Amino acid sequence: MSLLASPLLPGSAPDGQPMTLGVMGGGQLGRMFVHAAQAMGYATAVLDPDPASPAGLVSHYHIRTSYTDAAGLAQLAACSAAITTEFENVPADALRTLAALRRVSPGAAAVAIAQDRAAEKAHFGRCGVACAPYAEIHTAADLAQVADDLLPGILKTARMGYDGKGQVRVSDRAALAAAWADLGQVPCLLEKMLPLALECSVIVARGTDGAMVNFPVQRNLHREGILAVTEVFEGNLPAALAAQAIAGARAVAQGLDYVGVLCVEFFVLSDGSLVVNEIAPRPHNSGHYTQNACDLSQFDLQVRTLAHLPLTQPRQHSPAVMLNLLGDLWGRSSPESLPDWAAVLALPGTHLHLYGKQQARPGRKMGHLNVTGATPEQVRVTALRAAEILGVAAF
Ligand code: ATP
Ligand code: MG
Repeated sequence: MSLLASPLLPGSAPDGQPMTLGVMGGGQLGRMFVHAAQAMGYATAVLDPDPASPAGLVSHYHIRTSYTDAAGLAQLAACSAAITTEFENVPADALRTLAALRRVSPGAAAVAIAQDRAAEKAHFGRCGVACAPYAEIHTAADLAQVADDLLPGILKTARMGYDGKGQVRVSDRAALAAAWADLGQVPCLLEKMLPLALECSVIVARGTDGAMVNFPVQRNLHREGILAVTEVFEGNLPAALAAQAIAGARAVAQGLDYVGVLCVEFFVLSDGSLVVNEIAPRPHNSGHYTQNACDLSQFDLQVRTLAHLPLTQPRQHSPAVMLNLLGDLWGRSSPESLPDWAAVLALPGTHLHLYGKQQARPGRKMGHLNVTGATPEQVRVTALRAAEILGVAAF
C-alpha cells in the first residue's frame, strides 16, 4: 500500500469536524503556513504562548501555552489531524509527545539534528556534502587544542542560534577565549572564517513516500547576520554550481529521511567551491519569493507534505527579488511614521507581505516585499527603486 493512501483531504473529516492542520509556533512562517492551509480549505490550529503571535492572530484555533505544556500539547493533538513546526527550536521532546498521538512532520529526529550545529555537521559528513572546517568546544581543554588553521573563525553556540545571534567573530586565541566566556561557556563550534563569494540556498519538499521536489537555487545577501535580499532568476548563479547545490540539498534531505519542507544554506567560496552552511527544518525566509513567483509556494508544499497530498515539481514563472522589511524601516521621518507603502505599491509587480507585528524594532522581521516581472533586469530595476523608497541599502 502506498504511504500516500490516506491523505488528509480538506473539508470535513468523517466525524463532521473541519479537517484541521496544526503548527507548533506562531511566528511569520506559521502565519504563512496558516494562510496556505486555509486557502485550500483546511482549518488551522497554532500553539504559541504569545497572544499576539502573527499566526495565532489569523488561525481558527490558538492554544496559548508554552511548547512543553502537556495540556497544551494534548489540546493541539486533539484538534489537529496532523502537526508541523515553524521554527527549529521547538523542543524535540514536544514533537515526540505529539508524534505518539498524531502525524508530525518533520519528525523529531530530523529537527533534533537541525537544532544542534555539531549533529548537523556530522550529518553533512555522512551525506558527503562538504562544510566549513570546525572544532567542537565543550571544555577549556577543547579550546586549548583548537588548530591554528581554524583562526580567524566564528564561534557559534551549538544550539539556539538564529539571525546571527549567538555568534562571535574571533581573530586569535585570546579573542576566542574571551568570546567563549561571553557566551557563557556553553557548548560551541568554532568554524573557520571562509572567504565567501556569495551565499545561496535550496528548498526541497519530501513526502512520506520519498518523492522529492525542489525550488530553484536562491541567491541570498545577508547584512549583519540577517537575510536582506534574495534574488532568483535564470543565471543568478553559474549553472554547474546551481546543479551541485540542488544535488547537495537533496542528499541532505534524503539522508535525514526527511518529510516536509527543508532549506539548505550554502556558501560559494572565492575559489568557486561550494560548502554547506546549515539547514532549517521548515520553510525559510529565502523562499518567500515563491509566494508570487512560483506556481506553488513553499507553504503550499508544507501543507501538501503534512497532509500526504501529491507533490509536483514547482515551476518558477517570474524572475523575482525579495526584500526583507526589518523594523529599522519604521519611524524613519517621525517616531510614528510608516514606510511609504503607497509609493512602493505603485511600482509594477510589487507584492507586500506584512506579518501583523505591532512593535517595530531594529532587526525585527516585520514583513517582506516580493518583486516579480518579465525579465531579471526589469525586476532588479523595480526592486532597487523599491529599496530606495523604503530606505533599504542598494544591492
Ligand atoms: P540563520 O539561522 O538566521 O540563517 P544563523 O544565526 O544560524 O542564521 P549562520 O547561518 O550560521 O547563522 O551565519 C550567519 C551568516 O554569517 C551567514 O549567512 C554568513 O554570512 C556568515 N557566516 C557564517 N559562518 C561563516 C563562515 N564560516 N565563514 C564566513 N562567513 C560565515
Ligand atoms: Mg543561516
